[in-house]
Amino acid sequence: MMEAYYMQLAIEEAKKAENLGEVPIGAVIVYKGEVIATGHNRREQLQATHAHAEMIAIEKANAYLNSWRLDGCTLYVTLEPCPMCAGAIVQARIPHVVYGARDPKAGCCGSIMNLLENEAFNHKVHVTSGVMADECGHLLSHFFQILREERQAVEEKIQLYHPDPTKTMQKVDKQKYEIIKGAIMKELEKEALTLKELRNKLKMNLNKSFDGSIDWYCTSVKLDLEARNKIERVDTNKPHRFRLKE
Ligand SMILES: [Zn+2]
Repeated sequence: MMEAYYMQLAIEEAKKAENLGEVPIGAVIVYKGEVIATGHNRREQLQATHAHAEMIAIEKANAYLNSWRLDGCTLYVTLEPCPMCAGAIVQARIPHVVYGARDPKAGCCGSIMNLLENEAFNHKVHVTSGVMADECGHLLSHFFQILREERQAVEEKIQLYHPDPTKTMQKVDKQKYEIIKGAIMKELEKEALTLKELRNKLKMNLNKSFDGSIDWYCTSVKLDLEARNKIERVDTNKPHRFRLKE
């Protein structure tokens, strides 16, 4: 029961990291039933290789106990510690580590190797794994899912280049993009058109409902549709006419 209680506190720490845009990993150190140190991942914020949740918590516990040795302490962390943190745990002589989710890519407390329960070291750490593993793992998978979606959205925007390089990467309003895209597809469904003809058609149809620069959006969206193989050139000589691709 107490393990779940302290792990919940580590999860709260992980959420603090998430709110900062950091990979959500949190840790707490408990001494004689009392939480003496907390830490959450701050690697991006501090641009510091060592700023993992466990390292930050260990440093605070050192200060609290005024000792590099953390005898009698238990470290709770939401994710299986990496080689650096596992090394620090051994160095600090922490007797007991409780972690949540396994880390098959970097975990050194059983996944890739086991630095904590290695007979060859003088100090051996007792490890309890899998405490609230689902909650801890979900925090991470959710974070990376959002990150992937955001990256994809940015990539989509980057594809919308304006032919004028000085205007490249202008901010694209997603809603306006969709309106123009819909209008272009509708026109090209009827007949093949040049860019100029397309612009004039859109101006005729969208003037009242569309307040942005139709020319700019029309060119950007046309280029984007071309890049995505949605439309194709009909003529080899300029000006090219475009039609929808089958
Ligand atoms: Zn680490």
